[in-house]
Amino acid sequence: MALGVGPGDEVVTVPFTFIATVEAIALTGATPVFADICEESFVMDVNKLEAVITPKTKAIIPVHLYGQCADMESVLKIAKRHNISVIEDACQAIGTEYTFSDGTVKQAGTMGDIGCLSFFPSKNLGCYGDGGALMTQNDELAERLRAICRHGSKQRYHHDMIGLNSRLDTLQAAILNVKLNHLDEYIAARQKTATFYHQALCDVDWIELPSSAPHSSHTYHQFTVKVKNGKRDALKQFLSDHEIPSMVYYPVPAHLQPAYRHLSNKEGDFPISERSCREVLSLPMHTELSEEQLQYICQTIKNFPL
Ligand SMILES: *Cc1c(COP(=O)(O)O)cnc(C)c1O
Repeated sequence: MALGVGPGDEVVTVPFTFIATVEAIALTGATPVFADICEESFVMDVNKLEAVITPKTKAIIPVHLYGQCADMESVLKIAKRHNISVIEDACQAIGTEYTFSDGTVKQAGTMGDIGCLSFFPSKNLGCYGDGGALMTQNDELAERLRAICRHGSKQRYHHDMIGLNSRLDTLQAAILNVKLNHLDEYIAARQKTATFYHQALCDVDWIELPSSAPHSSHTYHQFTVKVKNGKRDALKQFLSDHEIPSMVYYPVPAHLQPAYRHLSNKEGDFPISERSCREVLSLPMHTELSEEQLQYICQTIKNFPL
Protein backbone atom coordinates (compact mmCIF):
# COMPACT_ATOMS: atom_id res chain seq x y z
CA MET A 1 0.00 0.00 0.00
CA ALA A 2 2.78 2.43 0.91
CA LEU A 3 4.47 1.86 -2.44
CA GLY A 4 1.25 2.56 -4.32
CA VAL A 5 0.94 -0.99 -5.64
CA GLY A 6 -2.57 -1.73 -6.85
CA PRO A 7 -4.83 -3.22 -9.52
CA GLY A 8 -3.04 -3.85 -12.81
CA ASP A 9 0.35 -4.18 -11.11
CA GLU A 10 2.31 -7.38 -10.62
CA VAL A 11 4.45 -8.37 -7.63
CA VAL A 12 6.85 -11.32 -7.77
CA THR A 13 7.30 -13.70 -4.86
CA VAL A 14 7.79 -17.43 -4.21
CA PRO A 15 5.07 -20.09 -3.99
CA PHE A 16 6.84 -21.84 -1.10
CA THR A 17 6.02 -19.50 1.79
CA PHE A 18 3.42 -18.78 4.44
CA ILE A 19 0.32 -17.49 2.68
CA ALA A 20 0.60 -14.02 4.29
CA THR A 21 3.27 -13.10 1.72
CA VAL A 22 0.93 -13.71 -1.20
CA GLU A 23 -2.09 -12.37 0.64
CA ALA A 24 -0.40 -8.98 1.11
CA ILE A 25 -0.02 -8.71 -2.67
CA ALA A 26 -3.56 -9.82 -3.44
CA LEU A 27 -5.09 -7.46 -0.86
CA THR A 28 -3.66 -4.43 -2.70
CA GLY A 29 -5.48 -5.60 -5.82
CA ALA A 30 -2.19 -6.43 -7.56
CA THR A 31 -1.48 -9.82 -9.13
CA PRO A 32 0.92 -12.21 -7.36
CA VAL A 33 3.44 -13.70 -9.81
CA PHE A 34 5.64 -16.58 -8.76
CA ALA A 35 9.29 -17.56 -9.20
CA ASP A 36 10.35 -21.01 -7.96
CA ILE A 37 12.79 -21.63 -5.11
CA CYS A 38 16.30 -23.10 -4.89
CA GLU A 39 16.52 -26.79 -4.14
CA GLU A 40 18.90 -26.56 -1.14
CA SER A 41 18.09 -23.27 0.57
CA PHE A 42 14.30 -22.98 -0.01
CA VAL A 43 14.64 -19.29 -0.98
CA MET A 44 13.86 -17.56 -4.29
CA ASP A 45 15.85 -18.86 -7.25
CA VAL A 46 17.14 -15.60 -8.73
CA ASN A 47 17.82 -17.34 -12.03
CA LYS A 48 14.05 -17.70 -12.41
CA LEU A 49 13.28 -14.17 -11.28
CA GLU A 50 14.17 -12.05 -14.30
CA ALA A 51 12.12 -14.22 -16.67
CA VAL A 52 8.86 -13.36 -14.87
CA ILE A 53 9.44 -9.60 -14.65
CA THR A 54 7.19 -7.62 -17.01
CA PRO A 55 6.53 -3.89 -17.54
CA LYS A 56 3.71 -4.34 -14.97
CA THR A 57 6.05 -5.58 -12.20
CA LYS A 58 6.15 -3.05 -9.35
CA ALA A 59 7.94 -5.03 -6.64
CA ILE A 60 9.72 -8.23 -5.65
CA ILE A 61 9.12 -9.93 -2.30
CA PRO A 62 11.94 -12.32 -1.47
CA VAL A 63 11.17 -14.51 1.58
CA HIS A 64 13.95 -15.29 4.05
CA LEU A 65 12.48 -18.71 4.77
CA TYR A 66 13.25 -20.72 7.91
CA GLY A 67 15.80 -18.09 9.05
CA GLN A 68 18.05 -17.86 6.04
CA CYS A 69 18.37 -14.86 3.70
CA ALA A 70 17.49 -15.02 0.04
CA ASP A 71 20.22 -14.05 -2.44
CA MET A 72 19.71 -10.33 -1.78
CA GLU A 73 22.68 -9.10 -3.79
CA SER A 74 21.15 -10.58 -6.96
CA VAL A 75 17.60 -9.56 -6.06
CA LEU A 76 18.67 -5.95 -5.45
CA LYS A 77 20.67 -5.88 -8.69
CA ILE A 78 17.74 -7.16 -10.75
CA ALA A 79 15.33 -4.74 -9.01
CA LYS A 80 17.62 -1.80 -9.74
CA ARG A 81 17.95 -2.79 -13.39
CA HIS A 82 14.16 -2.79 -13.77
CA ASN A 83 13.56 0.14 -11.40
CA ILE A 84 11.24 -1.81 -9.09
CA SER A 85 10.95 -1.99 -5.30
CA VAL A 86 12.08 -4.77 -2.98
CA ILE A 87 10.01 -5.74 0.07
CA GLU A 88 11.75 -8.32 2.25
CA ASP A 89 9.62 -10.87 4.05
CA ALA A 90 11.92 -11.22 7.07
CA CYS A 91 9.18 -12.64 9.33
CA GLN A 92 11.20 -15.81 9.94
CA ALA A 93 14.63 -14.21 9.89
CA ILE A 94 14.97 -11.42 12.45
CA GLY A 95 18.69 -11.07 13.22
CA THR A 96 19.91 -13.12 10.24
CA GLU A 97 23.01 -11.60 8.69
CA TYR A 98 23.68 -11.32 4.97
CA THR A 99 27.19 -10.66 3.63
CA PHE A 100 27.55 -8.84 0.30
CA SER A 101 30.44 -9.66 -2.03
CA ASP A 102 32.23 -6.44 -0.98
CA GLY A 103 32.16 -7.64 2.65
CA THR A 104 29.30 -5.40 3.83
CA VAL A 105 27.11 -7.19 6.39
CA LYS A 106 23.44 -6.31 6.74
CA GLN A 107 20.56 -7.79 8.70
CA ALA A 108 17.49 -9.39 7.18
CA GLY A 109 14.86 -6.76 6.49
CA THR A 110 17.28 -3.83 6.20
CA MET A 111 18.41 -4.32 2.60
CA GLY A 112 15.30 -3.68 0.53
CA ASP A 113 12.96 -0.67 0.45
CA ILE A 114 10.84 -2.18 3.22
CA GLY A 115 11.47 -5.13 5.54
CA CYS A 116 8.61 -6.98 7.23
CA LEU A 117 8.72 -8.69 10.62
CA SER A 118 6.11 -10.75 12.44
CA PHE A 119 6.01 -11.17 16.21
CA PHE A 120 3.51 -14.04 16.16
CA PRO A 121 4.30 -16.15 19.27
CA SER A 122 6.08 -18.90 17.32
CA LYS A 123 8.56 -16.51 15.64
CA ASN A 124 12.11 -16.08 16.86
CA LEU A 125 11.03 -12.86 18.59
CA GLY A 126 7.45 -13.58 19.59
CA CYS A 127 4.94 -11.54 21.53
CA TYR A 128 1.99 -13.06 23.40
CA GLY A 129 -0.52 -12.45 20.64
CA ASP A 130 -0.29 -10.89 17.20
CA GLY A 131 2.17 -8.20 16.23
CA GLY A 132 4.57 -7.12 13.55
CA ALA A 133 6.81 -4.31 12.36
CA LEU A 134 8.01 -2.72 9.16
CA MET A 135 11.51 -1.39 8.62
CA THR A 136 12.73 1.18 6.12
CA GLN A 137 15.66 3.56 5.72
CA ASN A 138 13.48 5.99 3.75
CA ASP A 139 11.95 8.75 5.93
CA GLU A 140 9.17 9.56 3.48
CA LEU A 141 8.19 5.92 3.21
CA ALA A 142 8.33 5.60 7.01
CA GLU A 143 5.89 8.46 7.39
CA ARG A 144 3.51 6.92 4.87
CA LEU A 145 3.78 3.51 6.57
CA ARG A 146 2.99 5.00 9.97
CA ALA A 147 0.00 6.85 8.54
CA ILE A 148 -1.39 3.71 6.87
CA CYS A 149 -1.15 1.82 10.17
CA ARG A 150 -3.27 4.54 11.80
CA HIS A 151 -6.22 4.60 9.43
CA GLY A 152 -4.37 6.71 6.88
CA SER A 153 -3.89 9.70 9.14
CA LYS A 154 -0.82 11.75 9.97
CA GLN A 155 -2.92 14.06 12.08
CA ARG A 156 -5.72 12.53 14.12
CA TYR A 157 -9.13 12.61 12.37
CA HIS A 158 -7.55 13.90 9.16
CA HIS A 159 -7.26 11.07 6.66
CA ASP A 160 -4.91 11.60 3.73
CA MET A 161 -5.12 8.07 2.39
CA ILE A 162 -6.98 4.82 2.82
CA GLY A 163 -5.37 3.02 5.74
CA LEU A 164 -5.84 0.25 8.25
CA ASN A 165 -6.03 -0.37 11.97
CA SER A 166 -2.60 -1.96 12.13
CA ARG A 167 -0.99 -0.49 15.21
CA LEU A 168 1.25 -2.64 17.39
CA ASP A 169 -0.81 -3.34 20.50
CA THR A 170 0.69 -1.52 23.52
CA LEU A 171 0.70 -4.62 25.71
CA GLN A 172 2.51 -6.62 23.02
CA ALA A 173 4.97 -3.76 22.56
CA ALA A 174 5.76 -3.83 26.29
CA ILE A 175 6.46 -7.57 26.14
CA LEU A 176 8.61 -7.18 23.03
CA ASN A 177 10.53 -4.32 24.65
CA VAL A 178 11.75 -6.79 27.29
CA LYS A 179 12.22 -9.80 25.02
CA LEU A 180 14.17 -7.84 22.39
CA ASN A 181 17.07 -7.59 24.87
CA HIS A 182 17.34 -11.38 24.78
CA LEU A 183 17.16 -11.87 21.01
CA ASP A 184 20.87 -12.71 20.67
CA GLU A 185 20.54 -15.42 23.35
CA TYR A 186 17.46 -16.84 21.62
CA ILE A 187 19.33 -17.02 18.32
CA ALA A 188 22.40 -18.61 19.94
CA ALA A 189 20.21 -21.27 21.61
CA ARG A 190 18.59 -22.13 18.28
CA GLN A 191 21.96 -22.33 16.54
CA LYS A 192 23.27 -24.63 19.29
CA THR A 193 20.28 -26.92 18.81
CA ALA A 194 20.88 -26.92 15.05
CA THR A 195 24.51 -27.90 15.59
CA PHE A 196 23.37 -30.84 17.72
CA TYR A 197 20.97 -32.01 14.99
CA HIS A 198 23.67 -31.66 12.34
CA GLN A 199 26.15 -33.72 14.32
CA ALA A 200 23.67 -36.39 15.38
CA LEU A 201 21.94 -36.82 12.00
CA CYS A 202 24.72 -36.30 9.47
CA ASP A 203 25.08 -40.03 8.81
CA VAL A 204 21.37 -40.67 8.22
CA ASP A 205 21.47 -41.02 4.43
CA TRP A 206 17.72 -40.79 3.74
CA ILE A 207 17.49 -37.36 5.36
CA GLU A 208 18.84 -34.16 3.84
CA LEU A 209 19.85 -31.64 6.49
CA PRO A 210 19.44 -27.90 5.95
CA SER A 211 22.47 -26.46 4.22
CA SER A 212 23.81 -23.01 4.87
CA ALA A 213 23.22 -20.75 1.88
CA PRO A 214 26.37 -18.91 0.85
CA HIS A 215 26.50 -15.35 2.20
CA SER A 216 23.79 -15.84 4.86
CA SER A 217 23.84 -16.85 8.49
CA HIS A 218 21.01 -19.10 9.70
CA THR A 219 18.88 -18.23 12.72
CA TYR A 220 16.87 -21.46 12.49
CA HIS A 221 13.32 -20.29 12.84
CA GLN A 222 12.83 -23.87 11.68
CA PHE A 223 15.19 -26.81 11.43
CA THR A 224 13.73 -28.31 8.30
CA VAL A 225 14.98 -31.56 6.82
CA LYS A 226 14.01 -33.24 3.58
CA VAL A 227 12.92 -36.87 3.84
CA LYS A 228 14.20 -38.32 0.59
CA ASN A 229 12.68 -41.81 0.66
CA GLY A 230 9.02 -40.82 0.20
CA LYS A 231 8.30 -41.61 3.84
CA ARG A 232 7.92 -38.11 5.20
CA ASP A 233 4.38 -38.65 6.44
CA ALA A 234 5.28 -42.06 7.90
CA LEU A 235 8.22 -40.53 9.78
CA LYS A 236 6.00 -37.73 11.08
CA GLN A 237 3.53 -40.35 12.39
CA PHE A 238 6.36 -42.43 13.89
CA LEU A 239 7.70 -39.37 15.72
CA SER A 240 4.22 -38.49 16.91
CA ASP A 241 3.78 -42.08 18.23
CA HIS A 242 6.89 -41.39 20.29
CA GLU A 243 5.48 -38.08 21.53
CA ILE A 244 7.76 -35.97 19.35
CA PRO A 245 5.95 -33.15 17.56
CA SER A 246 7.02 -32.21 14.05
CA MET A 247 5.43 -29.99 11.42
CA VAL A 248 5.18 -29.65 7.68
CA TYR A 249 5.83 -26.06 6.60
CA TYR A 250 4.19 -26.03 4.06
CA PRO A 251 2.05 -28.89 2.72
CA VAL A 252 0.54 -26.96 -0.21
CA PRO A 253 2.38 -24.32 -2.29
CA ALA A 254 0.63 -20.96 -2.68
CA HIS A 255 -0.01 -21.40 -6.42
CA LEU A 256 -2.12 -24.54 -5.76
CA GLN A 257 -4.19 -23.07 -2.93
CA PRO A 258 -7.90 -22.77 -3.81
CA ALA A 259 -7.85 -19.05 -2.94
CA TYR A 260 -5.23 -18.41 -5.63
CA ARG A 261 -6.45 -20.75 -8.36
CA HIS A 262 -7.77 -17.75 -10.33
CA LEU A 263 -4.15 -16.90 -11.11
CA SER A 264 -4.34 -19.96 -13.38
CA ASN A 265 -1.11 -21.57 -12.27
CA LYS A 266 -1.19 -25.34 -12.40
CA GLU A 267 0.52 -28.37 -10.95
CA GLY A 268 4.01 -28.71 -12.39
CA ASP A 269 4.56 -24.96 -12.81
CA PHE A 270 6.92 -24.72 -9.81
CA PRO A 271 8.38 -28.21 -9.41
CA ILE A 272 10.94 -27.44 -6.68
CA SER A 273 8.30 -25.85 -4.47
CA GLU A 274 5.91 -28.74 -5.12
CA ARG A 275 8.53 -31.37 -4.32
CA SER A 276 9.56 -29.49 -1.17
CA CYS A 277 5.94 -29.61 0.01
CA ARG A 278 6.13 -33.42 -0.22
CA GLU A 279 9.55 -33.81 1.43
CA VAL A 280 9.98 -31.19 4.16
CA LEU A 281 9.67 -31.89 7.86
CA SER A 282 10.50 -29.40 10.58
CA LEU A 283 11.93 -30.96 13.72
CA PRO A 284 11.38 -29.52 17.21
CA MET A 285 13.22 -26.20 17.38
CA HIS A 286 13.01 -23.68 20.18
CA THR A 287 15.18 -22.08 22.82
CA GLU A 288 14.62 -24.52 25.69
CA LEU A 289 15.41 -27.93 24.20
CA SER A 290 17.61 -29.99 26.52
CA GLU A 291 20.39 -32.25 25.33
CA GLU A 292 18.44 -35.22 26.69
CA GLN A 293 15.41 -34.30 24.60
CA LEU A 294 17.55 -33.78 21.50
CA GLN A 295 19.25 -37.12 22.01
CA TYR A 296 15.84 -38.81 22.27
CA ILE A 297 14.57 -37.09 19.10
CA CYS A 298 17.64 -38.05 17.05
CA GLN A 299 17.71 -41.64 18.34
CA THR A 300 14.02 -42.05 17.51
CA ILE A 301 14.64 -40.82 13.95
CA LYS A 302 17.46 -43.36 13.62
CA ASN A 303 15.12 -46.11 14.91
CA PHE A 304 12.55 -45.35 12.18
CA PRO A 305 11.92 -48.65 10.38
CA LEU A 306 12.69 -48.01 6.70
C1 LIG B 1 4.63 -15.36 10.06
C2 LIG B 1 4.88 -15.02 8.67
C3 LIG B 1 4.27 -13.91 8.08
C4 LIG B 1 3.33 -12.99 8.79
O1 LIG B 1 2.26 -13.63 9.36
P1 LIG B 1 1.29 -12.84 10.36
O2 LIG B 1 0.22 -13.82 10.62
O3 LIG B 1 0.82 -11.64 9.61
O4 LIG B 1 2.10 -12.48 11.55
C5 LIG B 1 4.59 -13.61 6.78
N1 LIG B 1 5.45 -14.36 6.07
C6 LIG B 1 6.06 -15.44 6.59
C7 LIG B 1 7.02 -16.22 5.76
C8 LIG B 1 5.77 -15.81 7.91
O5 LIG B 1 6.36 -16.89 8.43
